[in-house]
Amino acid sequence: MDDLQQLLPAARQAAALCQRVQRVHIRSTRQDDAIWRKEGHEHVTIADYGAQAILCRAIRQLFPDDAVIAEEGADHFLQYVAAGEREEVRRQVSAALGEEVSEAQLCVWLDHGQEREAARIWVIDPIDGTKGFIALRHYVVAVGLLDEGRQVVAGLLAAPGWPGAGRLLYTRDGGALMEPLKGGAACQLQVSRRREPADLLLMESFEPSHTSHSRMAQLCETAGLAAARVERIDSQEKYGRVAAGQADLYLRQTFPGGSAHRIWDHAAGTALVRAAGGIVSDLDGSALDFSQGATLARNAGVIAANPNIHERVVDGLASLAAQ
Ligand code: AMP
Ligand code: MG
Repeated sequence: MDDLQQLLPAARQAAALCQRVQRVHIRSTRQDDAIWRKEGHEHVTIADYGAQAILCRAIRQLFPDDAVIAEEGADHFLQYVAAGEREEVRRQVSAALGEEVSEAQLCVWLDHGQEREAARIWVIDPIDGTKGFIALRHYVVAVGLLDEGRQVVAGLLAAPGWPGAGRLLYTRDGGALMEPLKGGAACQLQVSRRREPADLLLMESFEPSHTSHSRMAQLCETAGLAAARVERIDSQEKYGRVAAGQADLYLRQTFPGGSAHRIWDHAAGTALVRAAGGIVSDLDGSALDFSQGATLARNAGVIAANPNIHERVVDGLASLAAQ
């Protein structure tokens, strides 16, 4: 069994915790007690901490020498989350694992493997698309793996909002697979081969604050893809749709002067699209550089596409930049 396979049960537990928190704290009561904002005004919830604790606990047990780069950490958990809500995270994780855990254990798990030099790095976003999670749209639990050369070599996405009761997507033996989140037969993933603009489906961020929808439309027009349909969803589920051949292209740009993309928002998705036969690159066609710590500091954006249209998108972007 390759190492990522050993994490699938923890990914399912983490996704189940997210679904339970969504049901109890968000869907039914619509209370704000499951939501806080970190410094920098990003959303974070009970479920972000709970899901990360479960994943990092598994990595600690299974691969104790590996490093972790993850979105959350014990310092802001203790600093920004009130005692009552921390207790709720503890209860949720205990329920998910079927054993009583302490807050001290949670903190150890949350920070496990961070700030450490190691040959391999697990890259974790416990909830990618937190805004989508809160708004009952799309979100994923994402885990990627970097090797010693800081290449993305494996990834999984647990996607509870995937149409039809959720899916689990993961790389295995150089390929990509998808199965129902609740368990069931797996199918091999293959990117599409579509190339006719009118047949194409482009994925982009739901949130206008994450991506300029007008800039994307301009880009599509320049690349001769104005006839393509557009679907906007949160999270790396966009990569998943490309990997599954349901969509053909996912595009994302950093805003001029904006902060770099974080690797946990891209590592797992990149692994899946590549394993399904697609191409993932920067906007100029060069490689994404996962060797720069927590961010894609050397990259301006991302193109994830089927191989029949990737070059055309790169060319379209180049001519737009030259205008
Ligand atoms: P989305 O794909 O829009 O759901 O965004 C997923 C994640 O990417 C969130 O954690 C965002 O904070 C992050 N993100 C979105 N847009 C950008 C951007 N332009 N630059 C850097 N990070 C972003
Ligand atoms: Mg996140």
